[in-house]
Amino acid sequence: PRRWLREYCRRNGLLTLSIIAVVTGCVLGFLLRGLNLSTQAKIYFSFPGELLMRTLKMLILPLITSSLMSGLSAMDAKASGRLGLLTITYYLWTTFIAVIVGIGLVTLIHPGTGTEKEGHRHGSGPVMTSADALLDLIRNMIPANLIEATFQQYKTDLLPVVSKPKPKEKAAQPNFVYVMPDYSDPRRGHPVFLELTPAPEVHYKNIPGTNQQMNVLGIVIFSATMGLLLGRMGERGVPLVSVCQCINECVMKIINAAMWYFPFGIVFLVAGKVVDMQDPSTIGEKLGLYTITVMAGLFVHGVVLLPLFYYILTYKNPFSYIRGLLQALVIALATSSSSATLPITMKCLLENCGVDRQIARFVLPVGATINMDGTALYEAVAAIFIAQVNEYELDFGQLVTISITATAASIGAAGIPQAGLVTMVIVLTSVGLPADDIMLIVAIDWVLDRFRTMINVLGDALAAGIMAHLCRKDFPTDGSRAPSMPPTG
Ligand code: ASP
Repeated sequence: PRRWLREYCRRNGLLTLSIIAVVTGCVLGFLLRGLNLSTQAKIYFSFPGELLMRTLKMLILPLITSSLMSGLSAMDAKASGRLGLLTITYYLWTTFIAVIVGIGLVTLIHPGTGTEKEGHRHGSGPVMTSADALLDLIRNMIPANLIEATFQQYKTDLLPVVSKPKPKEKAAQPNFVYVMPDYSDPRRGHPVFLELTPAPEVHYKNIPGTNQQMNVLGIVIFSATMGLLLGRMGERGVPLVSVCQCINECVMKIINAAMWYFPFGIVFLVAGKVVDMQDPSTIGEKLGLYTITVMAGLFVHGVVLLPLFYYILTYKNPFSYIRGLLQALVIALATSSSSATLPITMKCLLENCGVDRQIARFVLPVGATINMDGTALYEAVAAIFIAQVNEYELDFGQLVTISITATAASIGAAGIPQAGLVTMVIVLTSVGLPADDIMLIVAIDWVLDRFRTMINVLGDALAAGIMAHLCRKDFPTDGSRAPSMPPTG
């Protein structure tokens, strides 16, 4: 038994510890809620969790740039074109299916009808057009300043609104911050922004710089382009590719070392959130049903449909593949961020799932940025839920609009906590619903965010497995690569 125990600890020790950490965090959080901790005490208490988040975030930039540059540089034009096309098609397809699942369930369960009145609402909301959102997405793809892109983005948590809120309305919405643009400055000539500060970060609000986010999409596009070009440069590109491979290896080593800290950090990350959350007994019946609808949709998509696609496309057992990913899923649950989880997802795929390195280096960073099945599903459900609460009948055309805008909004959402809540403005305004009504679902959003992030991460990881199977001829794992290609790490 001792040998068995040692073997178990070696294989599953960290995962078991992480799961225990999530549970401990919940229990500890609930126990501490009774103590009415001061804001200062909460900051100290959340500190170990904050360190975990910072470690993960620190690794995103080097991981994405080095993965894409070294990964794509080693592919020939045909292989990378095929992989790119298949990956994007698959991502769009699964996201769209997720939206359909969401629409089906919310129409069936109809959580938005009921007698009670709950939440606070505002009549006319800020109006942001879908065109603005689209422009913002494209703006993000081409960062004007690469250095700035590493700490700032003009989307998701910074959404353009056209109308100026009245001061009274503003005061009623503690989560919203309105930023006026400075059109005289060309670098800041983007529209008026509506910023939603996620509840967990509220106490960071006064610390300059901590709310700024990376424009991951811009960095992905730039690194992928560089990678493709490096691959075409032959010998001359090899030094930079080697540098990227070294960085990539170092990042993976840092992750391996930091992994042992994660369970400890998770306890405080989760507990800090539970201490801060709204009293669950104040959640009304409608919001409860809405939560059940989203969770049911995520379950159907993550546990039935995605594994089914994996099975159909690879003929392999999806659940043994998912077993290798559990560590990443726990981190997604704990951090609510698919970008922050990316390093762990990468590690799981390479070490447990045996996915080709080159494929993982392309499919994962792109997926963490644009492929968010859970977010898309939730956006569709939430928009229709808000329509139901407003007793607003949606016709078939509007449902189609919701399915398209929810897909687009999930692509536009960054892989950070509660990004989907903000890009939902696009979906709401596309069918003429009051954007302010997202306040109706804010109370429960942080919980749903954790679960939809898990499905987002799962979607990316399963996609990598599928692509590794479909493109296995282009990427033989026996080491036989075209001789002209630079070595891969
Ligand atoms: N938190 C999600 C993610 O990182 C995005 C969202 O739906 O808010 O994948």
